[in-house]
Amino acid sequence: MDDPDARWAMPPRLLPIEYLQRGEPAMDRAQLFDRAPIAMVCLDEPGQVLAANHATAHLLGRPVNYMQRRPFVTLVAQEDQRRLVSHLTRVANGERCETDLTMVMPRGTTLPTTLVSTPIMRGNHFEYSHNAILDMSRRWQVEKTLKKASERLEHIAHHDALTGLANRYLFEDRLVRAVTRCRRNGWMGALVFVDLDRFKFYNDTFGHAVGDAILVEAATRLAMAVREQDTVCRYSGDEFLLILENITSQADVDVVLGKLRDEINRPVYGVADRPLQLSASFGATLFDKSTRDAGLLIKQADVAMYQVKKSRRDGFGYYSPQVDAVAARRRQLEADLGMAVSGLQLRLEYQAQVDIDARHISGCEALLRWEHPVRGRILPDEFIEIAEHAGLTEKIGEWVLHRACADARRWLDEGYQLDCIAVNVSARDVSSERLIGYVQDALATSGLPPSLLEIEITETSVMHQPASAAKVLGQLSELGVRLALDDFGTGYSSLRCLNDFPFNRIKIDKSFVLGLDHNEGNGAIIMAMTSMAENLGIEVIAEGVETESQMSKLAAWGVKLMQGFLFARPDSAEHFLSLLSAPLRTIPQSLPAA
Ligand code: C2E
Ligand code: MG
Ligand code: MG
Repeated sequence: MDDPDARWAMPPRLLPIEYLQRGEPAMDRAQLFDRAPIAMVCLDEPGQVLAANHATAHLLGRPVNYMQRRPFVTLVAQEDQRRLVSHLTRVANGERCETDLTMVMPRGTTLPTTLVSTPIMRGNHFEYSHNAILDMSRRWQVEKTLKKASERLEHIAHHDALTGLANRYLFEDRLVRAVTRCRRNGWMGALVFVDLDRFKFYNDTFGHAVGDAILVEAATRLAMAVREQDTVCRYSGDEFLLILENITSQADVDVVLGKLRDEINRPVYGVADRPLQLSASFGATLFDKSTRDAGLLIKQADVAMYQVKKSRRDGFGYYSPQVDAVAARRRQLEADLGMAVSGLQLRLEYQAQVDIDARHISGCEALLRWEHPVRGRILPDEFIEIAEHAGLTEKIGEWVLHRACADARRWLDEGYQLDCIAVNVSARDVSSERLIGYVQDALATSGLPPSLLEIEITETSVMHQPASAAKVLGQLSELGVRLALDDFGTGYSSLRCLNDFPFNRIKIDKSFVLGLDHNEGNGAIIMAMTSMAENLGIEVIAEGVETESQMSKLAAWGVKLMQGFLFARPDSAEHFLSLLSAPLRTIPQSLPAA
């Protein structure tokens, strides 16, 4: 080499521009290399360190003389050494290269770097290379944090925060994939819709923390009961969806559904002050290679689940076109009901209540009908439940109360005698204090004395939220309104109801009365009910009396008030008034006195 400094020759672009501009002599090049703020090394063709500057020593934590003459590859982590060799080979061939390398520092710590190399050539001959070692640790840290954050965001976007299950977006994607797989491999799959029963009750009664714990428990049980490849998702609120894949027949799904049901039915301990008994309704629909529309499957499973829930069985059912027809009617009615409430399609019919001893009509029950412009008359058993679901019962209840009170007031003004008019109140409204406002309003607007109005409530609706129902019923009773316990004997808490709430009257459910002719046991139950009510000073009325023999038996057991087709069917107000003004013929003179 002619110039001894030549091996340290720096590319002119590394010189500070000021020196060149001022025409001052350039700083000693070796000094410039040594003091450069960037870690730089010069490597010879075999990759040995010819020179390393202070910044390199500082960056790698090694003294300059430790590195000198050492193969650069020994400073690099083992897994990156092959990459470095190929990098150096390319540089020796005259290429400018950049490679990410992990450098090894004393005590085994590592440092992520990028090695940027420029070959110094003399003609075609490689002399040595200039290399800058860029510290990438900060950038890698930022990238790692960003990656973690984006993975976390990805997880949040696709999972339910409370249960950790797939959410509906991930689920819908998985469903589409499952249906496509089915089409390819010819297997069958099933989509299961799960809705927890009475979740709202638990949530309202025990608080949201308990509600959350129930959801997490249910989610865990569902996830544990299926295979790992099956997807479980929290669809919304207390609704879960499952995809079961690789099944051969409905019998396979039956087994899984049975297992899921058993799992959910186990009591939950430790979330409330007592064990909670869960149950759920399961609706399933099957898919196979002919299935095209994955979105439709969710609707089908929902329809099947809804039918199960409506039948009030805890259990499972499958989608079929028949099930769909019922659901379609329901959906249509739900859509039409809002119109019905505002659009004068509701009517009240009145059914006489008879005092057997006095042989006259003592009162009546107002029964709601919906005159649907297309489907004709619809009975409350079908639409009240739909109204509850659609949150329309309050509006309907308000209308019924006003109509019934206004009719009764008019009858009194026309000179008819009546002990009371009974109005049914929906389960949902019994625990709402707004009911008191509606009752007060209806009484005030009509001018009907409160003692002539009787509110009928079923025991299941009272027991749904006993504390708030007690408050509402107490206030109604204070207003002077009468309270009747409807469908008495069909729930599980009849006795508690009588004790805890201020009822004036019980209505023995028609199922006991209708069974009188061929079931001896019903007689014993009715007698027990009657004597219990008598002891508590509560009136008894029997509903659903259809035959004279039923009437005679009831009368013999001390039931004086009756209602049923034997005396009158529910009918228009005019028809009811015609009965009121005519002598009662139904009751034979020979009826044994109670
Ligand atoms: P409920 O209060 O127990 O009413 C008695 C039901 O038994 C009525 O059915 C009535 O038509 C029927 N019934 C009366 N006598 C006999 C008989 O001798 N034999 C038989 N087999 N049935 C008899 P309806 O009118 O279809 O009402 C059914 C239920 O709908 C009522 O049961 C009540 O729970 C509810 N409901 C009726 N009107 C209203 C209302 O205005 N609001 C609310 N929330 N519910 C209502
Ligand atoms: Mg009733
Ligand atoms: Mg009833």
